[in-house]
Formats: sequence, C-alpha cells, structure tokens
Amino acid sequence: MQALVAALDAAFGAAELVVLHAATSALGPIEGGVDAFVSALREARRERTLVVPTFTMHHADPPSGPEPPRGADPRTPAGMGRWVERLVPFLDARSSHPTESVGALGPHAAIVMPHPVDEPMGPRSPWARLVERDARIVLLGVGLERCSLLHHAERMAEVPYLDGSAYLVPVEMDGEPSWIEVVGNRCSEGFPRLLPRLAPETVRVLGAEALVLGARTLFDVARAALREDPRALLCSSCLDCMVARDDIAQARR
Ligand SMILES: [Zn+2]
Repeated sequence: MQALVAALDAAFGAAELVVLHAATSALGPIEGGVDAFVSALREARRERTLVVPTFTMHHADPPSGPEPPRGADPRTPAGMGRWVERLVPFLDARSSHPTESVGALGPHAAIVMPHPVDEPMGPRSPWARLVERDARIVLLGVGLERCSLLHHAERMAEVPYLDGSAYLVPVEMDGEPSWIEVVGNRCSEGFPRLLPRLAPETVRVLGAEALVLGARTLFDVARAALREDPRALLCSSCLDCMVARDDIAQARR
C-alpha cells in the first residue's frame, strides 16, 4: 500500500484542497482492493483536505417506478464508484444537499458547508468556494467528462440549455415531505473538448494516469470558451446535446 500512498501523494501535491474523481479499475490490481484505496486516501488527508462528490441522483424526482429496496441507506451514493460508497463512513463532513452532496476528509472539510438545496451547482454551492480557494482537481483514471466543476462553470455562465435540465429534489417543509425544482446538469461527454485549451499536468498512479488541473484556471478557461460559443461543452453524439443546441439557437432569436 505504501507505493499507492506515495503515488497519490505525488498526484495531490502540496495543495491544501484536492477534488478527486477516480475509477479504481484503471489503477490495475490493488493489493487489498477498494478498501486499500480508501485507506490510502485516509492517509493522504493528514496533509490536506480531500473533496469527493457523493451524489445521490437516484433521489431526484418523485418515484414513478418500483420503490427503492427497503432498508437501503438513502444517503448511499449511486453511480459514483464503489470506493466513494466505502469512503462515506469516514468523511469528516458531507454537505446536506439531498441529491448533489459533496463529502470531505481532512482539516478544511467544512468547505463543503453550507450547500443550499436550491443551488446544487450555483454561486453559493461548495463548487464556488472550491474555485475561490483554487482547489487542485485530480482526475484519476477518468477524463474531463467526470469533472463536476465544469457543471458549475456552465451554471455560472448561464448557458441557455440548463433551463431544460430542471428536476425535483425531495425536501421537508414544515415537517412534511415535499419537492422543490432545481437547475440540474446536462450531458458531460463534451467536456474533454476543453482539453486543448488546458495544459493538465499528468502523474502516474499505479496503472493509471492522473490529470491534474487548477480549479481557477479550469473555471476561467471554461467560462471563456462558453462566452465565445455556448456550445463549447456539448458533445456531438447525444440527443440531449442536440436539444441543448436547439435551446441555444432559440435563445439567440
Ligand atoms: Zn451529449
């Protein structure tokens, strides 16, 4: 495990705040598996604060299909990777957002609070503070399409296609369960289009390559690209992005 700890240490660098997106499968076989990866991350937090998206999007919108399995913890992240699920019990802080929560481990874990329900990615969300503090973004074995901060950049650039992304978040109002509508995120498959404008540092971590970027630069580059062309972060192959292109054309009329 020491090799893994040392490699992560090199990827995280001297940054006070690190946002980590990772696919452990890209690392190759790890002795001790996902639990060893989680232990290595806990080791790393002595030096810095790690921030990890712990989204629970399976809570979005009133259920129309079968009920979720009984006894399942409603705050268990889904689709974020098994290592995120395993890390959750060890977090020092986790924002209270019902669907787009963010977890943190380390001395500055409080950075993920507060997280207003109506602003999952907005100016008062943890993402705005991570840009302000110029967190180090580490994409370990994954590409820019996994970088949640770019959804924040889209939101702050007020791209017209987010209007169609609204979804319902479960809340409690006066002790009664209720739903409120929030601005959501669209497709992220086009995010890697931004890569030629960035110069990410790369660090090898076992079998994977980690892309390392500064949050402020990433945010500024995305904002500039969206200002030039609001289609800058859309992909060329999905229906969602086709609709988004229509939304942009409509907004121009
Ligand atoms: Zn798309």
